[in-house]
Amino acid sequence: MNEIILGIDLGTTNSEVAIVEQGQVKVIADGDKKILPSYVGIDDNGEIIVGETARNQFLLYPERTIKSIKRLMGQNTQVELAGQSYSPQEISAIILKRLKAIAEKQLGQTASKAVITVPAYFSDAQRQATHEAGEIAGLDVVRMINEPTAAALAYDANQSEPKHVLVYDLGGGTFDVSVVNIEEGVVEVLSSHGDNHLGGDDFDQQIIEFLIDHLQTTYRVNAREHSKAMARITRAAETAKFVLSEQPYVQINEEYLLEFEGSAIHLSVELSRMEYEEMIEDYINATMDAVHMALKGAKFTSSDIDEIVLVGGSTRTPCIRERLINEFGFEPHSEVDADLCVTMGAAIQAAMINGQQVDTVLVDITPYTYGTGAIGLLNGETYPFTFVPIIHKNSILPNRKTEAFYTSYDGQETVEITIYQGEDPDALNNVKIGEFHVEGLQNVEAGNIITLTLSLDLNGILHVSAEEKATGLEKSITIKNALSSFDSDTLDTAKQKISSLFGKLDSSLYLQNELETPDDAVIPEIEEARLLIIKAESLFEQISNEDKEDMIDIIETISGCINAKDIAGLDEPVEQLNDIIYYLES
Ligand code: AMP
Repeated sequence: MNEIILGIDLGTTNSEVAIVEQGQVKVIADGDKKILPSYVGIDDNGEIIVGETARNQFLLYPERTIKSIKRLMGQNTQVELAGQSYSPQEISAIILKRLKAIAEKQLGQTASKAVITVPAYFSDAQRQATHEAGEIAGLDVVRMINEPTAAALAYDANQSEPKHVLVYDLGGGTFDVSVVNIEEGVVEVLSSHGDNHLGGDDFDQQIIEFLIDHLQTTYRVNAREHSKAMARITRAAETAKFVLSEQPYVQINEEYLLEFEGSAIHLSVELSRMEYEEMIEDYINATMDAVHMALKGAKFTSSDIDEIVLVGGSTRTPCIRERLINEFGFEPHSEVDADLCVTMGAAIQAAMINGQQVDTVLVDITPYTYGTGAIGLLNGETYPFTFVPIIHKNSILPNRKTEAFYTSYDGQETVEITIYQGEDPDALNNVKIGEFHVEGLQNVEAGNIITLTLSLDLNGILHVSAEEKATGLEKSITIKNALSSFDSDTLDTAKQKISSLFGKLDSSLYLQNELETPDDAVIPEIEEARLLIIKAESLFEQISNEDKEDMIDIIETISGCINAKDIAGLDEPVEQLNDIIYYLES
C-alpha cells in the first residue's frame, strides 16, 4: 500500500483527523477525544497549546488565545498572540501540525500527506491559504475537497444510484447548506448558501443573556462586570444547551458564582426547551431561508431532494430536525456522527486517491421510531392518539431522549402511557410495544408536566420512565427486544413456543441434573449483562481513572448478580452502566 493519506476537517470551532484502515474509516482520537477544538494559545510558561487546553484558557486569557482562525483565512492580515504576530496560515498550521502528530502517534508512522476539507463557498484565496497552512505544517495537501462533498461521501461512498442530497451544516460559528448531486461515485455541489456568522455560539449567547438578565432581576447585579463569573456563565450556557438537546428542561446551577456587596451569589434557574427554542427561532428561520435559496440555486424544489445529511454539532438541536422533517417530509440521516462525517468523508477521499478499498461506514442505528400517543392534531383535527416520536428512526445507538407532556384535565391523578414503534402519524397504526400507568399525581389543574424518557441501548432494550416533574414521582418499565419488528405479544408467544420446545428436548436432562440450572446463555438478561461488561471494558483504555473506578464498581455488582442468577438485581446496575457508556460515547 502507498503511504497513508490523512483526511482532515480543519473546522472553525473543531478539527478532526481520520484514516481508512482495512476498509474501515477510523477517526483518530487523542486519548479519548476525537475532536480537537480549533484553539491555539500560549500558556503561563510561554509554551504553545492547542485544542482543549487552549479552549479552556480562552475565556480568562483571550489576549493569548486564538479561536476561529478559519474566518481569517485568505485575508492579508496578522493576529496577535502573546505579543507576537502570526498569519492565519501559521495559526492554522499549528492546528494541522497537532492533528498530524496525533495521527502519527496512533499510527506509529509518519504521515506527510493529507486531504483537507474547505467550505464550498471558500474563494481561491481562502483555498490557497489552506494549502499554504498545510505546507507550513509539513503536509503535502494532495487534494482539497468541499465539506458538503465530504459529508455526502461519508454516507454514499459506494452507492451507484443517482441522488440529490441536501447537506445542512450548522457548526459553532458558521452555517452552510448545499445541494449535492451524487452519481456513479462522483459528488458534485450544485449550489451552496449560508451565513458565515451564524451558529451554535449565537445560541449560547441567547442563554448567556437570559442568565445575565436573571441575575440582574433577582440580585440586581451586573454579571458582565465579573470576568470569572462570565467565564462560568458562558460554560454553563453551552452545557445547558447540550442538555436541552436531550431533555425538555434544564436546571442551571452555579454556586458561589460571584460576590456582591459582601454576600455570595448563587445562580439557580430553570430553562425549558420551549423557552430556548423561542430564543433561537430567528436563527433557525434564517437557516431555513438559506435552505430555500440553495434549492432555488439548484433549480430544485424540496420534492427533488432524496436525502438530507446533517453536519455540525448544532444540528443536534431537536427543533432543527423537526423543521427539516416538516419541510421535506422525511427523516434526515444521522447514522454518522454529525461532528465527524466531514473528516470521515475526507478520509474516504484520501483512501480513494491511494487506491484503497473503502467499505460502507457502518454504525448501529435504530431502524424504527419510538414514541407515544397523545392528544394532538391529525389531518387538521384533534385526535387523542397522535403519534409523538421521541427516539427517531436512524438515530445512533445507544440513545436517550426526554420529552414533556401535560395532563389534559384538572385533578387528573393518573396518566396512561403507551409506547409505540413505527412511523405512522396515527399512533394506533404503529406497533404497541408497552404500556403502563403513573398513578397518584398531585391534584392540580390541567397542564401538570409529565416527562417521558426513552433510553434504547445497543441490545435493543428500551427503558421507559415517566416522571411527574413537580414531585419527582416516577414509574418505569423495560421493554426487551424493542429493536425487533415483532410486537411484544407476538414476541412473547414466539418465545414461549421456542422455550417449550427446549423444555421438551431438555427436560430429561434437567431432571437428571436437578441441581444444575440451564446454561446462562439462554437467559437473555444475563447474556445482555455480559455483553455490556465486555463493551464497558473495551472503553477502559480511553477513559479517566475516575470513570473507570465507577465502572469497575458497577461491573462487580453486575457480576455478583450474574453469579447469583439474580435477574431482578441486574436492572439497576445495568442501567447505570448503560448510562455511563452512553455518556462516554456521546
Ligand atoms: P462544529 O463546529 O461542527 O464542531 O459544532 C460546534 C457547535 O455545535 C458548538 O456551538 C457546540 O456548542 C454545538 N453542539 C455540540 N453538541 C451539541 C448538542 N448536543 N446540542 C446542541 N449543540 C451542540
